[in-house]
Amino acid sequence: ARQFFVGGNFKMNGSLKTTKEIIENLNKAQLDSSVEVVVAPPSIYLTAARETLRKGIEVAAQNVFDKPNGAYTGEISVDQLKDAGITWTLTGHSERRVILQEDDAFIAGKTKAAIDGGVSVILCIGESLDQREAGTTIEVVTKQLQAVAEKVQDWSKIVIAYEPVWAIGTGKVATTEQAQEVHAAIRKWLASTVSKDAAEKTRIIYGGSVSEKNSKELAKQADIDGFLVGGASLKPAFVDIINSNQ
Ligand code: 13P
Repeated sequence: ARQFFVGGNFKMNGSLKTTKEIIENLNKAQLDSSVEVVVAPPSIYLTAARETLRKGIEVAAQNVFDKPNGAYTGEISVDQLKDAGITWTLTGHSERRVILQEDDAFIAGKTKAAIDGGVSVILCIGESLDQREAGTTIEVVTKQLQAVAEKVQDWSKIVIAYEPVWAIGTGKVATTEQAQEVHAAIRKWLASTVSKDAAEKTRIIYGGSVSEKNSKELAKQADIDGFLVGGASLKPAFVDIINSNQ
């Protein structure tokens, strides 16, 4: 069985004070010990988050660069993350794909740099509303995955986050059927493109308006192995989402 995984993506929200408050809330919460929990605060708070968080909860960067060092103003390397005790990073979040115009090849390069450097990756993929309405959802997500498969052979340190863009921050969660259908297709893609073993073992988590109200039903789906939570990860209800697989 795959270990249930819940990530909290704080995005560009909060302050040092509120970040510490969220973490202290997690530190004292009763969390299902079978769940892997990772939180991704803004980069400026990564160190403080790591220092404040209890053992057993990991910290993720929201982004990383694909080069080891050098004249790349504003970027952070894989080694710098490791140096700060950061063991995970997101790559390919739709906000970076759309607003920062990151393309599949660049995201694949960052994913490879992280994996090669020993930092695990939450690889985010997902279709826009136009793409869903055009019936190209599976095509879009497999193309996003394919770019990574061209550079990365070992998928054991990757968690795939399926986040339909139309469900992010909109309050419009995918139905359990919609999410399960895409998750199953991603698993099929893993079996045919990476390996049967990767298909069995890789966690495929759902993101997009996950709340304590919808997480229990989603968690029951065969191919939904957890969540990547945005807005609700800033609230006390994040604990209920972590515990929704019980
Ligand atoms: P929301 O949960 O706020 O919709 O955000 C989802 C997300 O983008 C997580 O990475």
